[in-house]
Amino acid sequence: MSGMNTSGFSGKRFEFGRGAGKSEYLLAGGLGVVIIAALALAIWGMFGGRISGPKAPTELHYKCEKCQHEFTVPLDELTAAPDAMDELQASVRDCPSCGAKQSCWRCIECPNCKKYYISQSEKARLEAMRIGRTEPEGIQDKCPYCQTVMLEWYREHRNKK
Ligand SMILES: [Zn+2]
Ligand SMILES: [Zn+2]
Repeated sequence: MSGMNTSGFSGKRFEFGRGAGKSEYLLAGGLGVVIIAALALAIWGMFGGRISGPKAPTELHYKCEKCQHEFTVPLDELTAAPDAMDELQASVRDCPSCGAKQSCWRCIECPNCKKYYISQSEKARLEAMRIGRTEPEGIQDKCPYCQTVMLEWYREHRNKK
């Protein structure tokens, strides 16, 4: 009697073990998809796109840290450049106004007041890249004009729907 019980139990355990291995594999795959989706969203935000905006962004905004000069660069020009693969080169530009080298950072549009400002998270990421460090964590993009934190704004906006 007891012998039958034991074999039945161990058989179940064996099956469960195999099943768990499979679902762990699926979970890892699902996680990868989530990370890719989050990354795509971050890139979309980086390029100043509005999530439900009528038009895709066709140009990038830059602002000079030295003289506060603002200008835009068409996306075509960036992708056509031979060093388009060099993200640092494409993201930090020389100032066409005051001539300062690598002083113009990519800007993002505040979803609340629609003004452009230098993305703090983007700047931190590129500065870290410049000195060969890994990206610092926990840096939020906060509008210097109306103090709106971009991620929080989108989170609130989505919840209201
Ligand atoms: Zn300048
Ligand atoms: Zn703002």
